[in-house]
Amino acid sequence: MNDFNVNRIREDFPILHRKIRGRQLVYFDNAATSQKPLSVIETVSNYYKTLNSNVHRGVHFLSDEATNKYEEAREKVRSFINASSVNEIIFVRGTTEAINLIATSYGNSKISRDDEIIISALEHHSNIVPWQMLCERTGAKLKVIPINDKGEILFDEFEKLITEKTKLISVIHISNALGTINPIKEIIEKAHSRNIPVLIDGAQSTQHCRIDVKELDCDFFAFSGHKIFGPTGIGVLYGKEKLLDEMPPYHGGGEMIESVSFEKTIYNKLPYKFEAGTPDISGPIGLASAIDYINKIGIDNISNYENKLLEYGTTELMKIGDLRIIGTAENKASVISFLAGNLHPYDVGTILDHQGIAIRTGHHCAEPLMKRLGISGTARVSFAFYNTKEEIDLFITALRKAIKMLK
Ligand code: PLP
Repeated sequence: MNDFNVNRIREDFPILHRKIRGRQLVYFDNAATSQKPLSVIETVSNYYKTLNSNVHRGVHFLSDEATNKYEEAREKVRSFINASSVNEIIFVRGTTEAINLIATSYGNSKISRDDEIIISALEHHSNIVPWQMLCERTGAKLKVIPINDKGEILFDEFEKLITEKTKLISVIHISNALGTINPIKEIIEKAHSRNIPVLIDGAQSTQHCRIDVKELDCDFFAFSGHKIFGPTGIGVLYGKEKLLDEMPPYHGGGEMIESVSFEKTIYNKLPYKFEAGTPDISGPIGLASAIDYINKIGIDNISNYENKLLEYGTTELMKIGDLRIIGTAENKASVISFLAGNLHPYDVGTILDHQGIAIRTGHHCAEPLMKRLGISGTARVSFAFYNTKEEIDLFITALRKAIKMLK
């Protein structure tokens, strides 16, 4: 699709036509979750209407068909992020579960007392707490790459943090709180020069830019379906096959076994070893439909258009006096955090909500980042490719009104 036509695209998203408190909805909370095109909604609905049955176990037609769709979805994800094999695609609940899986399975088996794990000051709680839990269990140490006031990691400091004890580096690709795009390729190269594996938290990047895990050469990559226009409750852990093969299972139960006896259980092969129990079946099928939708629009068209929204939104926000943009990295995605004077972001968000405009306020699940920046939270707008400049104008007008009312 070369002619990017936002008005035509908006027709695909029923929720965008909803009125909120009598006003046209302006949905600027895409970093929290994205809206779903009708094709995804219908795919999930059709699954339950026509296909519903359990996978990998039935001899009957429906089970076979559901299994095929489920595995086709895995292949679709593989191709979307350019993994080498479907064995490297593990379906999980989301980014949070993917990181917990690595922290538990890889962490428990490969990381021990006095080993070190490196994360950054930009991380979402999902990429902090699982490592803290691992450190508590093992006695390993968590080290944090510092950032500058613009919200960019300090690469020199990162290099200094690496020691012979560093066993894993886990970093956010795009910051949900500030929009910073991290130089993950350079981070991975540096880590690999010291034989250290790298996990990338791709919760905020997979929907904005092309992901090629082979080119990045990351060891693990995590993302959530609901942030890339797919259903909630489904996400993906990518891992290099060799590493996943060496790791013990995360959960035990059905599906993840080859055979069970009271004496000895043999685990299933990849990727099933990490998918215990009846999986979310409609989720991957819905996610595959979301990937089809993204491919139809074109991820490069999405990136280009969102960059224009980012530029326009930033310019318009900066015209408002006494407003501070929090996170001014050179390399940013379509997320803008801001503080208007000394107004509380929650009050600003509430008044905007009364005008039909959905934004996010608070610490954005990044409390340590807020502490580093010396603030308790921000107001945040995050744009998707179905947003428009006209919506940004509505938001700016509403924001000016909110500031006037609250002063
Ligand atoms: N990492 C980042 C950067 C995020 O923005 C989020 C969600 O906001 C997560 C991890 C957690 O994703 P989920 O809640 O889908 O597991």
